[in-house]
Amino acid sequence: MIYADNAATTKLCIEAFEAMQPYLLQNYGNASQPYFFAKASKKALQNSRETIAECIGAFPNEIYFTSGGTESDNWVIKSSLFMDKKKNKIITSPIEHHAILNSCKTVQKLKIPVDFLSVDEKGVIIFDSFEQYLSKNTGLVSIMYANNEIGTIEPIPEIARIVHKYGAVFHTDAVQAVGHIPINVHASEIDLLSSSAHKFNGPKGIGFLYIKNGISMPAYIDGGSQELGLRAGTENVAAIVGMAKALKININRMDKVRIKLLNIENAFLSALQDLGLDFIRNGAENHLPGNMNISFCQADGEMLLHRLDLKGICVSTGSACDTVNTQISHVLQAIKVPKEYAKGTIRITFGADNTTQEAIEIAKSIRDILNP
Ligand code: PLP
Repeated sequence: MIYADNAATTKLCIEAFEAMQPYLLQNYGNASQPYFFAKASKKALQNSRETIAECIGAFPNEIYFTSGGTESDNWVIKSSLFMDKKKNKIITSPIEHHAILNSCKTVQKLKIPVDFLSVDEKGVIIFDSFEQYLSKNTGLVSIMYANNEIGTIEPIPEIARIVHKYGAVFHTDAVQAVGHIPINVHASEIDLLSSSAHKFNGPKGIGFLYIKNGISMPAYIDGGSQELGLRAGTENVAAIVGMAKALKININRMDKVRIKLLNIENAFLSALQDLGLDFIRNGAENHLPGNMNISFCQADGEMLLHRLDLKGICVSTGSACDTVNTQISHVLQAIKVPKEYAKGTIRITFGADNTTQEAIEIAKSIRDILNP
């Protein structure tokens, strides 16, 4: 099998797995309990919080554990329901993940106004449209750090600066970015940031929301006093430990992996060209390492995915979170991919474990399917 769908999820790294084991089998105490046996769990939570904070340039008390990206995004968008009615407008982009877009739909039904910025043909926010929508009524702006389909990285520090000129709160869905590109939340003036461990070789079902000190957020899950009373529920200590371990490892090897992935990307694109395929590559020059969103002329992306699957190759069409909806994705529509190419789009996302050889094999398999 060749696994090339790392934007959908990644393999748990062995070090994270090993770090988790003691908290499942031996130190299984509830971190909220006062007795000695619970001390190891409590300490593990604190150490993990410190590690994660250090990895993104935050303070430990700004990290709130959640079940992942979807929950973190829902928390942020739905917090608008508790905002001052005169300052509760949301601004976001049309290329966000459905965790943001569908949360926006929900709050819209409850009378929260939502505006959508324009993006250019690379998926980058158009700044002119920004100033047009921002006003003193804007409470929250949510723009993703990097797009999950086309890999485009947004100019986050510049966006944050403009948002703050209008006194609004700035959130970024950094689910695809954390652990893959350098992020410093304080230096970039980010107020809220969503992240998910399974995108950076950590376990599934765990993530965090960074909430800058001084930003007031309503509780998302009511119950006990975990996560300062904002997100109640007994903590999944093992998963949190695994997340911190995986993130630290990914940050430490980030530069090496980026160089490797750029080489794989180049080999893949050269192979597609050498094999005579008619294709375009979507997304910006400044993109997530290893993310290749390719549209083939007069092809069928859905068919391509299934035929590659038969050859043991895992790739994706638009967004992996949306397999039910087989229309041209909202992202490809927003960046206006030409009609003759749009339907023939697949997303190949290489990760640290992939090789140049695998990339060339995928290219050859695509050629065999499209030009038998
Ligand atoms: N946001 C983005 C940009 C994503 O790519 C994803 C997952 O694909 C999510 C949010 C949802 O994250 P999770 O799978 O942790 O719920």
